[in-house]
Amino acid sequence: MKLWVKIVIGLILGIAVGLLFKEQTKYIKPLGDLFINAIKMLIVPLIFSSLFVGVTGMNDPKKMGRIGIKTFSLYLLTTAIAITIGLTLGTVLEPGAGISLDQNFEQVTGKAQPVSDTLINIIPKNPIKAATDGNVLQLIVFALLLGVATNMCSKEKAKPLINFMDSVAEAMYKLTAIVMEMAPYGVFALMAGVASQYGLDILIPLLKILIGVYLGCIIHALLTLGGAVAFIAKLNPINFFKGILSALAVAYSTASSSGTLPITIRCAQRNLGASHSISNFVLPLGATINMDGTAMYQGVAALFVAQAIGHDLTLANYVTIILTSTLASIGSAGVPGAGLIMLTLVLKSVGLPIEYIGIIAGIDRILDMARTTVNVVGDCMVTILVAKSENELDETIFNKVATV
Ligand code: ASP
Repeated sequence: MKLWVKIVIGLILGIAVGLLFKEQTKYIKPLGDLFINAIKMLIVPLIFSSLFVGVTGMNDPKKMGRIGIKTFSLYLLTTAIAITIGLTLGTVLEPGAGISLDQNFEQVTGKAQPVSDTLINIIPKNPIKAATDGNVLQLIVFALLLGVATNMCSKEKAKPLINFMDSVAEAMYKLTAIVMEMAPYGVFALMAGVASQYGLDILIPLLKILIGVYLGCIIHALLTLGGAVAFIAKLNPINFFKGILSALAVAYSTASSSGTLPITIRCAQRNLGASHSISNFVLPLGATINMDGTAMYQGVAALFVAQAIGHDLTLANYVTIILTSTLASIGSAGVPGAGLIMLTLVLKSVGLPIEYIGIIAGIDRILDMARTTVNVVGDCMVTILVAKSENELDETIFNKVATV
């Protein structure tokens, strides 16, 4: 049986077991924790080595500049489209209408770092600390800079370092493959935990926001991102989604784009046929800064809060939400719950009270799973578009996916 089929079965069985056995699912929780730890273990060495190899593989500065511009422009464009979908759905569905605020809601304790701080701290004072803290953005910047500097060294000096990192990256891919064998069981245990925790009684009062976010995620993933694969890259979108299914199942169950990154890279290279140099460059960046699902969710959530307190938003407010959600999604780390914390920035920017996000916090995990999945689809779509435009997509591999 193919691995992705096993993972999808694990996901569905996990939901069923969680709903049926509720309390008892605590016994299988360690299996989920084990899987999460295993993928977290991959992140730092994999991001560092693959990005370094990606940059040194693009020895031509012009090519790197071109790929960088394409990647960033596509990331920004798709994020802006996602927020617009979120705002439209938020306006049409009115998720916050009729919500009673008398109920006790959770206090959100995390504090969003101002975007300016994120930008200043982008350069790590100590790259080793960035690695041990798991600060992915800083790690990326250091890997990029070191890669560029290595390209400037003489061939003789650069070669051993490039070869070494290449071997590290290769070994990390192998380790990813080993960890992936655990995925069906890990995903099963994680889903059982989530399903047992969220009964219908928690979900029903907030059904409209749930529908809004899920619908937005589906529309954006299928129409915007799938559409770009079909009409811009002129490739079969079914192959595209099939090729990344394992990554999507892992993204859905872990709610972490960074955690899913090793699997995303593997899918992009092995199933979609994207070159190592493009996927190693585009995907780690995307997992950290490109979050279409998060931005879309922030649009719906901002309208939810505004409607819940009966506050009318002006056109200028809408524009502000688009801008701050874009920045907030760039500033969100690819970890569970980051988007909720960054939502405080978006609410503050238009004068909405941040206390009310406590209502959303109660079900945020369910929303997070969907938005993370769309974040990963967005990263893969941009990888395909950039790879195709650079003639670095092996279409025989891409087209074969449908038959495996
Ligand atoms: N969990 C999301 C991710 O990793 C970020 C968010 O909370 O929106 O992509």
